[in-house]
Amino acid sequence: MSGIEGKVIALTGASSGIGEATAAYLAERGARMVLGARREDRLNAVVDKITAQGGSAVGIKVDVANREDLKRLVDVAADRFGRLDVLVSNAGTMAVSPFDELRQDDWDAMVATHITGLLNGIGAALPLFRRQRSGQFVNVSSTAAYVVKAPQGVYAATKTAVKVLTEGLRQESGPDLRVSLVSPGLTNTEGVGKGADPETAALMVKAREEIGLPPSAIASAIGYAIEAPDGVDVSEIVVRPTAQT
Ligand code: NDP
Repeated sequence: MSGIEGKVIALTGASSGIGEATAAYLAERGARMVLGARREDRLNAVVDKITAQGGSAVGIKVDVANREDLKRLVDVAADRFGRLDVLVSNAGTMAVSPFDELRQDDWDAMVATHITGLLNGIGAALPLFRRQRSGQFVNVSSTAAYVVKAPQGVYAATKTAVKVLTEGLRQESGPDLRVSLVSPGLTNTEGVGKGADPETAALMVKAREEIGLPPSAIASAIGYAIEAPDGVDVSEIVVRPTAQT
């Protein structure tokens, strides 16, 4: 099946920002969305908005660090719609965490969300994709995987892991599966500056508001990777604000 219409697409990190915009973009184009995130109130609001506009979406409370939660996300897609065509692993946390501050909970959260979370998604969806003899992984990395900037060493390392795991998966995926990496640059979402000290947070919010991409720019890049014709693997897309070095 090519295009977006009719596809069953599971997406993590759907409760805000890029995930919310991507859920809306894909639902508008006729995808049946299975959406995961931890904040149920925000997730339900996204589902309600899509449904009110005539789209198809279901929301599941998911912590990607929990293997069983990802299995449930995939099971809901399979039970309700009979298949899963795409898993978009978008959940992420952009903690600003200078090494000297020893915010080790932030380090753990980035490893758990970006690395363990991605692997949990692969572990949940790959057996179904193999049985179907089709499926697509779309993994969200970052330009931080290409250019490391202080104080984001841990974030950059975990997003580099997303890039490397995606390439490794692509090489093992064979002719039936598609594997895509989408790496956003600075995007104007609530996640930018979250948890930082007030001074840093203010600078980051200013930057994201002045030059950040609208989340819809990343949604359409993800849509491009999904709508490619069968047999065409859009392996890697990097989308930056023109003003970003
Ligand atoms: P947001 O903070 O708006 O969105 C992050 C999403 O991830 C939320 O829906 C959040 O939902 C979810 N999430 C975080 N941790 C978990 C978890 N453990 N389990 C399930 N869901 C989780 O930020 P963005 O939209 O900007 O971020 C989306 C992705 O884009 C991330 O991977 C981020 O690293 C990446 N990115 C963003 C850039 C930017 O400048 N904005 C630049 C480069 C990459 P909830 O809290 O409800 O669980």
